[in-house]
Amino acid sequence: MELVLYPAGVLERRAALVPDPSTVAPVAHEMVRLMRAQNGIGLAAPQVGLSMRFFVLGVDRDRERVFVNPRIVRKSRRTIRSEESCLSLPDVTVEVPRAAVIDVRAWDEHGEPFEMRARGLSARAIQHELDHLNGVLCIDRIDTKRRERITRRLEALDRDGITARSAP
Ligand SMILES: [Zn+2]
Repeated sequence: MELVLYPAGVLERRAALVPDPSTVAPVAHEMVRLMRAQNGIGLAAPQVGLSMRFFVLGVDRDRERVFVNPRIVRKSRRTIRSEESCLSLPDVTVEVPRAAVIDVRAWDEHGEPFEMRARGLSARAIQHELDHLNGVLCIDRIDTKRRERITRRLEALDRDGITARSAP
């Protein structure tokens, strides 16, 4: 399993619903390992090349969660601006406004439906990962000028064949 870095078509596509949520368990466990190895707190299936609607979340240190076919059913009008980074965007940090509190519905990797309320870092990470399932990156949520600066730099790195893994 390999991390997909920007630019890549799979990161810009809307991912497909998972017909049977219980089938993602083996892949999700591998994604958790990759996320931990990269010091991430979330990883969405398109980031490992799978255009399917699920992601893993590792905000709680020893309690990873899997969200299959997730949907935000309520969100607070209040938003919070804070810095975000993304495993698919090496060395990029951007300030993104996100709803402060969300209620999310999903299935877990055993095929059980659940609903949870998230706030703080969890709410931010869930919104970031859900964006991935819709082909949206955090750099799509900042102003165009800044975004162009960042994408030019990332595309130059890509041309030179320098990836996050080969960088010091
Ligand atoms: Zn990301």
